[in-house]
Amino acid sequence: MSVSELQALESRWLMPTYERAPVEFVRGEGARLWDVDGKRYLDFFAGLGVMNAGHCHPRITEAIREQAGRLVGVSNLYYSEPGVRLGERLAESSLGGRVFLCNSGAEANEAAIKLARKHAHARGIAKPEVVVLDSGFHGRTIATLTASPKIASEELFGPLPRGFRTVARDDAAALEAAVGGSTAAVLFETIQGEAGVHPIPDDVVAAARRACDATGALLVVDEIQTGMGRTGSLWAWEQGPARPDVMSAAKALGGGLPVGACVTSPGLEDVLAAGEHGSTFAGAPLAASAALAALGVLDDPALLRRVRELGARLASSLTELDGVAEVRGRGLMLGVALVDGLDGPAVAGRALDGGLVINAPDPMTLRLLPPLVIGSAEVDEAVGVLARCLEA
Ligand code: PLP
Repeated sequence: MSVSELQALESRWLMPTYERAPVEFVRGEGARLWDVDGKRYLDFFAGLGVMNAGHCHPRITEAIREQAGRLVGVSNLYYSEPGVRLGERLAESSLGGRVFLCNSGAEANEAAIKLARKHAHARGIAKPEVVVLDSGFHGRTIATLTASPKIASEELFGPLPRGFRTVARDDAAALEAAVGGSTAAVLFETIQGEAGVHPIPDDVVAAARRACDATGALLVVDEIQTGMGRTGSLWAWEQGPARPDVMSAAKALGGGLPVGACVTSPGLEDVLAAGEHGSTFAGAPLAASAALAALGVLDDPALLRRVRELGARLASSLTELDGVAEVRGRGLMLGVALVDGLDGPAVAGRALDGGLVINAPDPMTLRLLPPLVIGSAEVDEAVGVLARCLEA
């Protein structure tokens, strides 16, 4: 089937919620993708920060194959080992409390919001509030889109739930002032991904920790895009000034399969009790086995060191290019701000034609999220393609 036939079929049967580039990918290996015509691409988008271990990593593929041949799914009303092992592995590699498994980032944040609200009720707060940062993105369910100021449209999706308050992302004093006696949680990404790769300043992160400590509110960090090694540590908060009380993870966690998780620190393990939360597919053996394999690949000090080294090489090469105003981010999560007169989506389109997959989260920014298994040759190749696209 040609791409134009596929487009016609899609427009007949799928809701038009995505703007897709006219390319059909049919195969992937490491940082390479192939389209239906056999053209080869260098993938610096990794399925929007999902394929951190690269496409079809042998250890993840083998784990999926092995588990798929044995047991794909069981109800959460029975036991199965991979999901429990995943909880152990995740908690031990992060906050040390307990884990609620689910199937996406939005669901992981929903769990965190429910947990924070129930925790606040137990502290005597009748109308708890979650403080979020301007331009943050936490998902597209009704609660998580309300927590994502840019897409929280009352007009389109109202009535939106109450209990969310937005503050500027770069104002430590405003954040501290916004957190008070009715705050259940402060929720943010340490590097805002969908907003165009904007790191939250350390003083704002430290102020959030201070304000939570002073009031009893929970510090909830969304690691859905920044986690699983993306920034050069398994979790991005490890490189910042504050340890969260609760963390959400998804995207690369499942090694390509849909897995999300809400992880607590000790002391919050029992906030959500039996029957108060759940999800049919959560923690099922197939997805959990893929996630365990993904953690096995990505939670590796040598790989994480390499992410920091390659990220620095990529950032400094990009900074040198004509047309680049600024490079933001950490590790292999980079945003490239373009000079006035350049159009991000047009540059990303030229890159795709040139065999490089990148994304433009806004008209002035390119976003690079390559698989973490790339080498310096791929970094240099991507910079070469981008240089030509920016000249054009
Ligand atoms: N939080 C962040 C920081 C994200 O980047 C995303 C997705 O892009 C989400 C939450 C939502 O994740 P999902 O699309 O898996 O629901």
